[in-house]
Amino acid sequence: MDLNDTPEQARYREQVRSWLDEHKAQAPPASGASDDSSYIDARRAWQRQLAEGGLAGITWPKDFGGQGLGPIEQVIANQEIAEARVPGILDVIGIGMLGPCLIAHGTDEQKTRHLGPMLHGDEVWCQLFSEPAAGSDLAAVQTRARRDGDGWALSGQKVWTTNAQFAAFGLLLARTDADVPKHKGLTMFIVPMDAPGVTIRGLRQISGEAEFNEVFFDDVKLSDDMVVGGVGNGWGTALTVLMYERLTIGLGSSGMGYRSDRFAAAVAADPAAARDPDVRRRLGDLSAELLAIRFTSYRTLTALQNGQIPGPEAGLAKVTTVNAAIAAGELIADVVGPDALAEDSEWAYMISFLPGLKSAGGTESILRNTIGERVLGLPPEPRLDKGIPFSELRAKEKEAATA
Ligand SMILES: Cc1cc2nc3c(=O)[nH]c(=O)nc-3n(C[C@H](O)[C@H](O)[C@H](O)COP(=O)(O)OP(=O)(O)OC[C@H]3O[C@@H](n4cnc5c(N)ncnc54)[C@H](O)[C@@H]3O)c2cc1C
Repeated sequence: MDLNDTPEQARYREQVRSWLDEHKAQAPPASGASDDSSYIDARRAWQRQLAEGGLAGITWPKDFGGQGLGPIEQVIANQEIAEARVPGILDVIGIGMLGPCLIAHGTDEQKTRHLGPMLHGDEVWCQLFSEPAAGSDLAAVQTRARRDGDGWALSGQKVWTTNAQFAAFGLLLARTDADVPKHKGLTMFIVPMDAPGVTIRGLRQISGEAEFNEVFFDDVKLSDDMVVGGVGNGWGTALTVLMYERLTIGLGSSGMGYRSDRFAAAVAADPAAARDPDVRRRLGDLSAELLAIRFTSYRTLTALQNGQIPGPEAGLAKVTTVNAAIAAGELIADVVGPDALAEDSEWAYMISFLPGLKSAGGTESILRNTIGERVLGLPPEPRLDKGIPFSELRAKEKEAATA
Protein backbone atom coordinates (compact mmCIF):
# COMPACT_ATOMS: atom_id res chain seq x y z
CA MET A 1 0.00 0.00 0.00
CA ASP A 2 0.99 3.64 -0.44
CA LEU A 3 1.98 4.91 3.01
CA ASN A 4 1.80 8.59 2.10
CA ASP A 5 -1.34 10.71 2.53
CA THR A 6 -3.60 10.80 -0.52
CA PRO A 7 -4.39 14.39 -1.67
CA GLU A 8 -7.71 14.22 0.28
CA GLN A 9 -5.97 12.94 3.42
CA ALA A 10 -3.30 15.65 3.11
CA ARG A 11 -6.08 18.25 2.86
CA TYR A 12 -7.76 16.77 5.94
CA ARG A 13 -4.43 16.80 7.84
CA GLU A 14 -3.94 20.46 6.91
CA GLN A 15 -7.47 21.32 8.05
CA VAL A 16 -6.90 19.59 11.45
CA ARG A 17 -3.49 21.24 11.84
CA SER A 18 -4.79 24.73 11.16
CA TRP A 19 -7.74 24.24 13.56
CA LEU A 20 -5.25 23.12 16.24
CA ASP A 21 -2.90 26.05 15.49
CA GLU A 22 -5.80 28.43 15.98
CA HIS A 23 -7.17 26.86 19.18
CA LYS A 24 -4.28 25.13 20.98
CA ALA A 25 -3.55 28.10 23.22
CA GLN A 26 -6.91 27.44 24.91
CA ALA A 27 -6.10 23.77 25.64
CA PRO A 28 -5.39 22.54 29.17
CA PRO A 29 -2.06 20.71 29.79
CA ALA A 30 -1.83 17.33 28.04
CA SER A 31 -1.64 15.52 31.38
CA GLY A 32 -3.07 16.17 34.81
CA ALA A 33 -4.61 14.28 37.70
CA SER A 34 -7.87 12.54 36.85
CA ASP A 35 -9.05 13.06 40.43
CA ASP A 36 -8.54 16.85 40.24
CA SER A 37 -11.99 18.26 39.43
CA SER A 38 -10.71 21.58 38.04
CA TYR A 39 -8.44 19.72 35.58
CA ILE A 40 -11.35 17.48 34.57
CA ASP A 41 -13.60 20.53 34.04
CA ALA A 42 -10.92 22.05 31.78
CA ARG A 43 -10.73 18.77 29.82
CA ARG A 44 -14.53 18.72 29.42
CA ALA A 45 -14.46 22.27 28.05
CA TRP A 46 -11.63 21.29 25.67
CA GLN A 47 -13.60 18.23 24.49
CA ARG A 48 -16.54 20.55 23.76
CA GLN A 49 -14.25 22.71 21.63
CA LEU A 50 -12.86 19.65 19.84
CA ALA A 51 -16.44 18.47 19.17
CA GLU A 52 -17.41 21.85 17.76
CA GLY A 53 -14.27 21.78 15.58
CA GLY A 54 -15.23 18.32 14.25
CA LEU A 55 -12.44 16.53 16.14
CA ALA A 56 -14.61 14.36 18.41
CA GLY A 57 -16.69 11.47 17.06
CA ILE A 58 -14.78 11.59 13.77
CA THR A 59 -15.99 8.10 12.74
CA TRP A 60 -19.52 8.51 14.20
CA PRO A 61 -22.29 8.88 11.59
CA LYS A 62 -23.30 12.48 10.81
CA ASP A 63 -26.86 11.76 12.02
CA PHE A 64 -25.49 11.49 15.56
CA GLY A 65 -23.29 14.57 15.47
CA GLY A 66 -20.18 12.81 14.14
CA GLN A 67 -18.16 13.55 11.03
CA GLY A 68 -18.97 10.31 9.14
CA LEU A 69 -15.27 9.89 8.28
CA GLY A 70 -13.07 6.76 8.28
CA PRO A 71 -10.40 5.30 10.58
CA ILE A 72 -7.57 6.92 8.58
CA GLU A 73 -8.96 10.38 9.36
CA GLN A 74 -9.20 9.32 13.03
CA VAL A 75 -5.52 8.33 12.99
CA ILE A 76 -4.54 11.57 11.20
CA ALA A 77 -6.40 13.61 13.85
CA ASN A 78 -4.76 11.59 16.68
CA GLN A 79 -1.32 12.18 15.14
CA GLU A 80 -1.89 15.93 14.76
CA ILE A 81 -3.28 16.25 18.30
CA ALA A 82 -0.18 14.45 19.65
CA GLU A 83 2.08 16.63 17.48
CA ALA A 84 0.39 19.80 18.81
CA ARG A 85 1.07 18.51 22.36
CA VAL A 86 -2.52 19.13 23.46
CA PRO A 87 -4.86 16.59 25.07
CA GLY A 88 -7.42 14.75 22.96
CA ILE A 89 -10.98 14.09 24.07
CA LEU A 90 -11.56 13.35 27.77
CA ASP A 91 -14.15 10.61 27.25
CA VAL A 92 -12.17 8.14 25.10
CA ILE A 93 -14.18 5.21 26.54
CA GLY A 94 -17.57 6.86 25.84
CA ILE A 95 -16.83 8.19 22.38
CA GLY A 96 -14.56 5.34 21.26
CA MET A 97 -16.47 2.35 22.66
CA LEU A 98 -19.79 2.99 24.42
CA GLY A 99 -21.29 5.57 22.00
CA PRO A 100 -20.70 3.25 19.01
CA CYS A 101 -22.40 0.46 21.01
CA LEU A 102 -25.45 2.71 21.64
CA ILE A 103 -25.46 3.61 17.94
CA ALA A 104 -25.45 -0.11 17.05
CA HIS A 105 -27.86 -1.47 19.69
CA GLY A 106 -29.62 1.47 21.43
CA THR A 107 -33.23 2.59 20.94
CA ASP A 108 -33.95 5.86 19.11
CA GLU A 109 -34.79 7.46 22.49
CA GLN A 110 -31.47 6.33 24.00
CA LYS A 111 -29.52 7.72 21.04
CA THR A 112 -31.39 11.04 21.08
CA ARG A 113 -31.02 11.44 24.85
CA HIS A 114 -27.38 10.40 25.30
CA LEU A 115 -25.15 10.80 22.24
CA GLY A 116 -25.06 14.63 22.04
CA PRO A 117 -24.10 15.25 25.71
CA MET A 118 -21.53 12.42 25.45
CA LEU A 119 -19.91 13.90 22.35
CA HIS A 120 -19.64 17.38 23.92
CA GLY A 121 -18.17 16.16 27.23
CA ASP A 122 -21.24 17.32 29.18
CA GLU A 123 -21.89 13.73 30.31
CA VAL A 124 -18.88 11.42 30.59
CA TRP A 125 -19.51 7.65 30.54
CA CYS A 126 -17.81 4.67 32.15
CA GLN A 127 -17.62 0.97 31.30
CA LEU A 128 -19.04 -1.18 34.11
CA PHE A 129 -17.95 -4.63 32.94
CA SER A 130 -15.09 -6.07 35.08
CA GLU A 131 -15.75 -7.58 38.50
CA PRO A 132 -13.47 -9.13 41.13
CA ALA A 133 -14.22 -12.61 39.68
CA ALA A 134 -14.93 -11.60 36.07
CA GLY A 135 -12.11 -9.95 34.12
CA SER A 136 -10.60 -12.15 31.43
CA ASP A 137 -13.62 -14.40 31.87
CA LEU A 138 -16.07 -11.52 31.46
CA ALA A 139 -19.11 -13.75 30.92
CA ALA A 140 -18.76 -14.84 34.57
CA VAL A 141 -20.25 -11.53 35.87
CA GLN A 142 -22.27 -11.94 39.05
CA THR A 143 -23.80 -8.47 39.41
CA ARG A 144 -27.46 -9.35 39.36
CA ALA A 145 -30.43 -7.45 37.90
CA ARG A 146 -33.76 -8.96 38.90
CA ARG A 147 -37.24 -8.04 37.79
CA ASP A 148 -38.81 -5.49 40.14
CA GLY A 149 -42.31 -4.45 39.07
CA ASP A 150 -42.02 -2.87 35.60
CA GLY A 151 -38.30 -2.31 36.02
CA TRP A 152 -35.20 -3.90 37.52
CA ALA A 153 -33.27 -3.93 40.82
CA LEU A 154 -29.48 -4.10 40.51
CA SER A 155 -27.06 -5.46 43.15
CA GLY A 156 -23.39 -6.36 42.99
CA GLN A 157 -19.89 -4.92 42.49
CA LYS A 158 -17.73 -3.75 39.61
CA VAL A 159 -14.01 -2.97 39.70
CA TRP A 160 -11.34 -1.14 37.65
CA THR A 161 -14.01 1.31 36.44
CA THR A 162 -12.02 4.09 34.76
CA ASN A 163 -13.53 7.60 35.13
CA ALA A 164 -16.45 6.48 37.35
CA GLN A 165 -15.52 9.29 39.77
CA PHE A 166 -16.80 11.92 37.31
CA ALA A 167 -19.05 9.86 35.01
CA ALA A 168 -22.73 10.71 34.60
CA PHE A 169 -23.66 7.27 33.20
CA GLY A 170 -22.22 3.78 32.96
CA LEU A 171 -22.91 0.93 30.56
CA LEU A 172 -23.24 -2.13 32.78
CA LEU A 173 -23.26 -5.86 32.06
CA ALA A 174 -25.46 -7.75 34.53
CA ARG A 175 -26.77 -11.27 35.00
CA THR A 176 -30.53 -11.40 34.51
CA ASP A 177 -30.92 -15.20 34.31
CA ALA A 178 -28.69 -17.64 36.22
CA ASP A 179 -30.55 -20.72 35.00
CA VAL A 180 -29.13 -20.66 31.47
CA PRO A 181 -25.47 -21.06 30.31
CA LYS A 182 -23.35 -18.11 31.35
CA HIS A 183 -23.15 -16.25 28.00
CA LYS A 184 -26.94 -16.42 27.56
CA GLY A 185 -28.24 -14.93 30.81
CA LEU A 186 -26.70 -11.44 30.49
CA THR A 187 -28.26 -8.04 29.79
CA MET A 188 -26.71 -4.60 29.19
CA PHE A 189 -28.06 -1.58 31.10
CA ILE A 190 -27.54 2.17 31.19
CA VAL A 191 -26.95 3.17 34.83
CA PRO A 192 -27.10 6.79 36.08
CA MET A 193 -24.06 7.07 38.36
CA ASP A 194 -25.94 9.34 40.79
CA ALA A 195 -28.81 6.85 41.31
CA PRO A 196 -29.59 5.96 44.95
CA GLY A 197 -27.64 2.81 45.94
CA VAL A 198 -24.56 3.51 43.75
CA THR A 199 -21.30 3.90 45.75
CA ILE A 200 -18.01 4.80 44.04
CA ARG A 201 -14.63 4.26 45.75
CA GLY A 202 -11.37 5.35 44.12
CA LEU A 203 -8.45 2.90 43.79
CA ARG A 204 -5.11 4.68 44.16
CA GLN A 205 -2.36 3.51 41.81
CA ILE A 206 1.44 3.58 42.02
CA SER A 207 1.37 6.72 39.82
CA GLY A 208 -0.41 8.48 42.73
CA GLU A 209 -3.65 8.93 40.80
CA ALA A 210 -7.00 7.28 41.42
CA GLU A 211 -8.05 6.86 37.80
CA PHE A 212 -10.23 3.89 38.37
CA ASN A 213 -12.67 2.75 40.99
CA GLU A 214 -14.67 0.07 42.68
CA VAL A 215 -18.41 0.63 42.18
CA PHE A 216 -21.03 -0.97 44.42
CA PHE A 217 -24.74 -1.35 43.60
CA ASP A 218 -27.20 -1.86 46.43
CA ASP A 219 -30.73 -2.46 45.13
CA VAL A 220 -30.42 0.24 42.46
CA LYS A 221 -33.74 0.74 40.64
CA LEU A 222 -33.58 0.86 36.85
CA SER A 223 -36.48 1.38 34.47
CA ASP A 224 -37.03 -1.00 31.57
CA ASP A 225 -35.98 1.63 29.04
CA MET A 226 -32.43 1.43 30.47
CA VAL A 227 -31.93 -1.98 28.79
CA VAL A 228 -29.62 -1.75 25.76
CA GLY A 229 -29.86 -4.35 22.99
CA GLY A 230 -32.60 -6.52 24.54
CA VAL A 231 -32.93 -8.69 27.65
CA GLY A 232 -30.67 -11.78 27.43
CA ASN A 233 -28.59 -10.27 24.57
CA GLY A 234 -25.95 -8.73 26.84
CA TRP A 235 -23.09 -10.89 25.58
CA GLY A 236 -23.59 -9.81 21.94
CA THR A 237 -23.88 -6.17 23.06
CA ALA A 238 -20.69 -6.53 25.15
CA LEU A 239 -18.83 -8.00 22.16
CA THR A 240 -19.61 -4.82 20.20
CA VAL A 241 -18.00 -2.76 22.99
CA LEU A 242 -14.97 -5.09 23.11
CA MET A 243 -14.50 -4.84 19.34
CA TYR A 244 -14.50 -1.03 19.57
CA GLU A 245 -12.15 -1.26 22.58
CA ARG A 246 -9.63 -3.11 20.41
CA LEU A 247 -10.00 -0.49 17.67
CA THR A 248 -9.73 2.43 20.10
CA ILE A 249 -6.51 1.06 21.60
CA GLY A 250 -5.13 0.22 18.13
CA LEU A 251 -5.99 3.55 16.48
CA GLY A 252 -4.95 5.55 19.52
CA SER A 253 -1.49 4.04 19.97
CA SER A 254 0.23 6.42 17.51
CA GLY A 255 -0.99 9.28 19.69
CA MET A 256 0.36 7.74 22.92
CA GLY A 257 3.86 9.01 22.26
CA TYR A 258 5.49 5.53 22.25
CA ARG A 259 7.87 6.54 19.44
CA SER A 260 11.41 5.25 19.05
CA ASP A 261 12.75 8.70 18.01
CA ARG A 262 11.55 10.06 21.36
CA PHE A 263 13.22 7.22 23.27
CA ALA A 264 16.42 7.57 21.22
CA ALA A 265 16.57 11.31 22.01
CA ALA A 266 16.36 10.54 25.75
CA VAL A 267 19.28 8.10 25.43
CA ALA A 268 21.31 10.46 23.20
CA ALA A 269 21.11 13.15 25.91
CA ASP A 270 23.65 11.05 27.84
CA PRO A 271 26.66 10.58 25.48
CA ALA A 272 28.25 7.82 27.61
CA ALA A 273 25.00 5.81 27.60
CA ALA A 274 24.56 6.41 23.89
CA ARG A 275 27.95 4.72 23.27
CA ASP A 276 27.20 1.74 25.55
CA PRO A 277 26.71 -1.37 23.34
CA ASP A 278 24.08 -2.87 25.68
CA VAL A 279 22.01 0.35 25.69
CA ARG A 280 22.28 0.54 21.88
CA ARG A 281 21.18 -3.10 21.51
CA ARG A 282 18.15 -2.59 23.79
CA LEU A 283 17.16 0.59 21.92
CA GLY A 284 17.59 -1.22 18.58
CA ASP A 285 15.45 -4.18 19.72
CA LEU A 286 12.54 -2.08 20.92
CA SER A 287 12.71 0.27 17.92
CA ALA A 288 12.50 -2.75 15.58
CA GLU A 289 9.40 -3.97 17.43
CA LEU A 290 7.74 -0.53 17.21
CA LEU A 291 8.57 -0.29 13.51
CA ALA A 292 7.09 -3.75 12.89
CA ILE A 293 3.92 -2.66 14.68
CA ARG A 294 3.72 0.49 12.60
CA PHE A 295 3.68 -1.54 9.40
CA THR A 296 1.30 -4.13 10.83
CA SER A 297 -1.10 -1.37 11.82
CA TYR A 298 -1.06 -0.06 8.24
CA ARG A 299 -2.48 -3.47 7.28
CA THR A 300 -5.19 -3.11 9.93
CA LEU A 301 -5.99 0.39 8.69
CA THR A 302 -6.22 -0.81 5.09
CA ALA A 303 -8.68 -3.51 6.19
CA LEU A 304 -10.75 -0.95 8.09
CA GLN A 305 -10.74 1.48 5.21
CA ASN A 306 -12.07 -1.34 3.00
CA GLY A 307 -14.94 -1.87 5.44
CA GLN A 308 -13.50 -5.05 7.02
CA ILE A 309 -13.33 -5.59 10.76
CA PRO A 310 -9.79 -6.52 11.89
CA GLY A 311 -9.61 -10.07 13.24
CA PRO A 312 -8.03 -11.44 16.43
CA GLU A 313 -4.53 -10.90 14.97
CA ALA A 314 -5.02 -7.19 15.85
CA GLY A 315 -4.41 -8.15 19.51
CA LEU A 316 -0.74 -8.66 18.67
CA ALA A 317 -0.36 -4.91 18.10
CA LYS A 318 -1.40 -4.22 21.68
CA VAL A 319 0.87 -6.90 23.17
CA THR A 320 3.89 -5.72 21.16
CA THR A 321 3.33 -1.97 21.66
CA VAL A 322 2.93 -2.33 25.42
CA ASN A 323 5.94 -4.64 25.79
CA ALA A 324 8.17 -2.39 23.65
CA ALA A 325 7.07 0.69 25.63
CA ILE A 326 7.74 -1.10 28.94
CA ALA A 327 11.23 -2.03 27.64
CA ALA A 328 11.73 1.64 26.67
CA GLY A 329 10.66 2.80 30.14
CA GLU A 330 13.14 0.38 31.75
CA LEU A 331 15.93 1.54 29.43
CA ILE A 332 15.23 5.20 30.18
CA ALA A 333 15.08 4.51 33.93
CA ASP A 334 18.51 2.81 33.66
CA VAL A 335 19.99 5.72 31.66
CA VAL A 336 18.38 8.66 33.50
CA GLY A 337 18.41 7.04 36.96
CA PRO A 338 15.91 7.83 39.75
CA ASP A 339 15.13 11.26 38.18
CA ALA A 340 13.11 9.37 35.55
CA LEU A 341 10.49 8.85 38.25
CA ALA A 342 10.57 12.40 39.64
CA GLU A 343 7.20 14.17 39.71
CA ASP A 344 8.12 16.60 36.92
CA SER A 345 9.75 13.93 34.71
CA GLU A 346 8.12 13.39 31.32
CA TRP A 347 8.68 9.63 31.86
CA ALA A 348 7.24 9.09 35.35
CA TYR A 349 3.64 8.58 34.28
CA MET A 350 4.54 6.32 31.36
CA ILE A 351 6.78 4.10 33.50
CA SER A 352 4.26 3.70 36.31
CA PHE A 353 1.14 3.40 34.12
CA LEU A 354 2.34 0.90 31.50
CA PRO A 355 2.29 -2.28 33.62
CA GLY A 356 -1.48 -1.66 34.04
CA LEU A 357 -1.91 -1.44 30.29
CA LYS A 358 -0.71 -5.05 30.12
CA SER A 359 -4.10 -6.01 31.63
CA ALA A 360 -6.44 -3.34 30.25
CA GLY A 361 -8.29 -4.28 27.07
CA GLY A 362 -7.37 -7.97 27.38
CA THR A 363 -4.31 -9.38 29.15
CA GLU A 364 -1.27 -10.56 27.24
CA SER A 365 -1.95 -14.25 28.05
CA ILE A 366 -5.55 -13.98 26.86
CA LEU A 367 -4.59 -12.19 23.65
CA ARG A 368 -1.87 -14.77 22.97
CA ASN A 369 -4.36 -17.60 23.64
CA THR A 370 -6.82 -16.03 21.19
CA ILE A 371 -4.15 -15.59 18.53
CA GLY A 372 -2.97 -19.19 19.11
CA GLU A 373 -6.45 -20.62 18.74
CA ARG A 374 -8.03 -18.39 16.12
CA VAL A 375 -5.08 -17.28 13.98
CA LEU A 376 -2.61 -20.17 14.28
CA GLY A 377 -5.28 -22.88 14.60
CA LEU A 378 -3.86 -24.41 17.81
CA PRO A 379 -6.21 -26.63 19.87
CA PRO A 380 -8.61 -24.64 22.12
CA GLU A 381 -8.34 -24.58 25.90
CA PRO A 382 -10.53 -27.21 27.57
CA ARG A 383 -13.83 -25.64 28.74
CA LEU A 384 -16.05 -26.80 31.55
CA ASP A 385 -18.80 -24.23 31.11
CA LYS A 386 -20.36 -25.16 27.76
CA GLY A 387 -24.12 -25.74 27.95
CA ILE A 388 -24.17 -25.68 31.79
CA PRO A 389 -26.53 -23.26 33.62
CA PHE A 390 -24.54 -20.49 35.36
CA SER A 391 -26.13 -21.41 38.73
CA GLU A 392 -24.62 -24.94 38.49
CA LEU A 393 -21.15 -23.92 37.29
CA ARG A 394 -19.44 -23.61 40.65
CA ALA A 395 -20.53 -27.12 41.71
CA LYS A 396 -19.31 -28.55 38.36
CA GLU A 397 -15.96 -26.75 38.72
CA LYS A 398 -15.53 -28.16 42.26
CA GLU A 399 -16.45 -31.63 41.01
CA ALA A 400 -13.85 -31.37 38.19
CA ALA A 401 -11.17 -30.10 40.60
CA THR A 402 -11.61 -33.07 42.97
CA ALA A 403 -11.97 -35.73 40.22
C1 LIG B 1 -5.69 0.67 33.37
C2 LIG B 1 -6.89 -0.20 33.39
C3 LIG B 1 -8.15 0.32 33.11
C4 LIG B 1 -9.28 -0.50 33.12
N1 LIG B 1 -10.50 0.08 32.89
C5 LIG B 1 -11.61 -0.69 32.94
C6 LIG B 1 -12.91 -0.10 32.79
O1 LIG B 1 -13.06 1.11 32.62
N2 LIG B 1 -13.99 -0.90 32.86
C7 LIG B 1 -13.89 -2.25 33.06
O2 LIG B 1 -14.93 -2.90 33.07
N3 LIG B 1 -12.68 -2.84 33.25
C8 LIG B 1 -11.54 -2.10 33.20
N4 LIG B 1 -10.30 -2.66 33.39
C9 LIG B 1 -10.23 -4.09 33.72
C10 LIG B 1 -9.65 -4.96 32.64
O3 LIG B 1 -10.58 -5.18 31.61
C11 LIG B 1 -9.22 -6.27 33.32
O4 LIG B 1 -8.07 -5.95 34.09
C12 LIG B 1 -8.89 -7.36 32.36
O5 LIG B 1 -10.04 -7.81 31.70
C13 LIG B 1 -8.23 -8.54 33.09
O6 LIG B 1 -9.03 -8.99 34.12
P1 LIG B 1 -8.48 -9.13 35.62
O7 LIG B 1 -7.73 -7.91 35.96
O8 LIG B 1 -9.64 -9.55 36.47
O9 LIG B 1 -7.42 -10.32 35.55
P2 LIG B 1 -7.73 -11.88 35.57
O10 LIG B 1 -8.70 -12.21 34.52
O11 LIG B 1 -8.06 -12.30 36.97
O12 LIG B 1 -6.32 -12.45 35.17
C14 LIG B 1 -5.24 -12.56 36.10
C15 LIG B 1 -4.06 -13.19 35.38
O13 LIG B 1 -4.41 -14.52 34.95
C16 LIG B 1 -4.22 -14.66 33.55
N5 LIG B 1 -5.30 -15.52 32.99
C17 LIG B 1 -6.64 -15.43 33.25
N6 LIG B 1 -7.31 -16.35 32.53
C18 LIG B 1 -6.39 -17.02 31.79
C19 LIG B 1 -6.45 -18.08 30.84
N7 LIG B 1 -7.63 -18.64 30.49
N8 LIG B 1 -5.29 -18.51 30.27
C20 LIG B 1 -4.10 -17.96 30.61
N9 LIG B 1 -3.96 -16.94 31.51
C21 LIG B 1 -5.10 -16.49 32.09
C22 LIG B 1 -4.33 -13.24 32.98
O14 LIG B 1 -3.63 -13.15 31.77
C23 LIG B 1 -3.66 -12.43 34.11
O15 LIG B 1 -2.27 -12.47 33.97
C24 LIG B 1 -9.16 -1.88 33.41
C25 LIG B 1 -7.90 -2.42 33.70
C26 LIG B 1 -6.78 -1.60 33.72
C27 LIG B 1 -5.48 -2.22 34.08
